[in-house]
Amino acid sequence: MMRAFYHPDQALHAPQQYMRFGRVVRARDLPERTERLLQALAGRGIPVETPPPVGMDPILAVHTADYVEFLRTAWDQWQTLPEDRGPEVWPATFPYWSGRPERRARPAPRPTGLLGRLGWYLGDMSVPLDAHSWTSIRQSAETAVAGAEAVADGAGLAYALCRPSGHHARADRASGFCYLNNSAIAAARLALRFGRVAVLDVDAHHGDGTQQIFYDRPDVLTASIHADPADYYPFYTGYADEAGAGAGAGANLNLPLPHGSGTGAMQAALQLAAEAIRKFDARALVVALGFDAHRADPIGVLALDSGDFAAIGEAVSRLDLPTLIVQEGGYGIDVLDPSLTAFLQGLGG
Ligand code: ZN
Repeated sequence: MMRAFYHPDQALHAPQQYMRFGRVVRARDLPERTERLLQALAGRGIPVETPPPVGMDPILAVHTADYVEFLRTAWDQWQTLPEDRGPEVWPATFPYWSGRPERRARPAPRPTGLLGRLGWYLGDMSVPLDAHSWTSIRQSAETAVAGAEAVADGAGLAYALCRPSGHHARADRASGFCYLNNSAIAAARLALRFGRVAVLDVDAHHGDGTQQIFYDRPDVLTASIHADPADYYPFYTGYADEAGAGAGAGANLNLPLPHGSGTGAMQAALQLAAEAIRKFDARALVVALGFDAHRADPIGVLALDSGDFAAIGEAVSRLDLPTLIVQEGGYGIDVLDPSLTAFLQGLGG
């Protein structure tokens, strides 16, 4: 007689939803499944034994302790999120890798079908593609290229109104509303002309894609000022100890700001970034300009006012380099105009 084991607690897990074909649909792994399976065993006259407790050691022989601890505690932590949280622990971001910045490109994925490639290339649930997305994505990149060409040709200063934004896009992965890395595309073009280029990213989010793309390059300095990623997108990079790797060692600067920071902290960070850019001897500059550091931004955690963006413009102006401004984020619709206006005023001196 075959032995069978089942613990009734296994039916307590009752998932309600999952994402399929772009829709939230009813979960499929329903507790009723076990009832049906038990019925089948009963129908064959097979008795079901309750398994004895064995402790965690056999599990920890296979799984890491931190992962097991996460599973054990995630529900309780979920209860600390705002009241309108969903009914179960459910992620909306997917880390690209371990968070170790020196891990750069991945191999091409083995799946050839769309569903497998989706997970590989779309890193979270903020980068859907519709019928017109590619057109906009490509055009946004071309806008950045046009700006870079203008600066390469001697324009001195240019602004690329890129949308969709780009600075979260890695060499091979879209995420964070970004698909192609407009700032990086522009910086690479300017490096051909000027040799040494700096990217100054002042979007409220770490420019993780830009960092990754240039992490081991000695000719492009990436400096990013952003809200502390320990509890803010993009979470896995943007820390102060990420300084570049290999030939690019020393050519990456992260200046995370405490949440709630205002223009004082921003200006102090701008000063540090400017010193690094001068020390690097950059010959051209790309400014990845976001306005989500505004206190009115719906997904922001910093506290700049519209007028504070003038100080960013002034800092850029003082660098006195051929400069391309590339638009990144900023989601407070009503403050975009005054913020860009202030930035441009500061830039104009
Ligand atoms: Zn942003």
